[in-house]
Amino acid sequence: MKQLHTFGTYLKKKFKYKVSKIPLGISGFTCPNIDGTVAKGGCTFCLNDSFSPNLAKNAGKTFLNLQSTSNPILDQQILELEEQILATRKMMKTQWGSQKFLVYFQAFTNTYAPFETLKALYDKALSYDDVIGLSIGTRSDSVTEELLDYLVELSKEKEIWIEYGIQSIYDETLEKINRGHNSLNVEEAIKHAKAKGLNVCGHLIFGLPNENQEMMLNSAKAAYAWGIDSVKYHPLYVVKNTLLANDYKSGAFEPISKEDYIDTLIKAIQLKPDHISIQRVTAGIDDQTLLAPTWCGLPKNNMLNSINKELQKNGFLAI
Ligand code: SF4
Repeated sequence: MKQLHTFGTYLKKKFKYKVSKIPLGISGFTCPNIDGTVAKGGCTFCLNDSFSPNLAKNAGKTFLNLQSTSNPILDQQILELEEQILATRKMMKTQWGSQKFLVYFQAFTNTYAPFETLKALYDKALSYDDVIGLSIGTRSDSVTEELLDYLVELSKEKEIWIEYGIQSIYDETLEKINRGHNSLNVEEAIKHAKAKGLNVCGHLIFGLPNENQEMMLNSAKAAYAWGIDSVKYHPLYVVKNTLLANDYKSGAFEPISKEDYIDTLIKAIQLKPDHISIQRVTAGIDDQTLLAPTWCGLPKNNMLNSINKELQKNGFLAI
């Protein structure tokens, strides 16, 4: 039986401690695919303010972008960051036995703000003794050279990761989900970050509209070949009040089945070079916002059990 190379084991081996990721959502961040810079409305599966009845209420909110010349909410953002790190760190220490932390800038596009803001937030996150580094989730069209250079500087002392949404290498799919960039844009961004020596995690989605298994696996193979160091695999699920929800209700979109997702996942893992660590093998939500497929609303352990069964059938140890 073969042991899978997971991100957890990578971190444990490198730092000798149990390292956990602290996810953050900081107000003021948005996405160029939502604010109209690239497109409005965002990816068809993304639940964002454009669909919210509270939009009018939020209109007074500050949203940053790469051209913002000032940031009146920086103090508030730092406060939010502090509160979230302290609360999540406490929970992870007591419930999970976590010893060190990677701060994960997760919600929206976390490089889509002026450099001074990003630097202030990243520096603050790294100021905690037990924070060993950062992981920054973003889009391939939203990272400046100035920021990359700063991340390279930080990476001399800290564990720095960029997480790019790849989703699919097929431009017709990216267009269909209103991604707002093409596949070449992601490929170039990943290769550029790798050429600078940064760690890159790529996100892939299985079950995108009009994609068959061969296409999903081609996306995985391409992502591996572009040089990613780590991968997150997700099924596409439908959340209420999204454009994808309209397609689902009209019958224009049918979600991937649990069996097909697991089969595709196992094949993608079999094709994966060993050195690429796995950060995620599934995703879902267990609240009322999930529309379909219902298996994405199962407790995470149920899904992991099913995946582990298939992994073991295929000669891998459970994760
Ligand atoms: S890139 Fe991310 S935040 Fe932006 S619209 Fe797509 S899913 Fe939403």
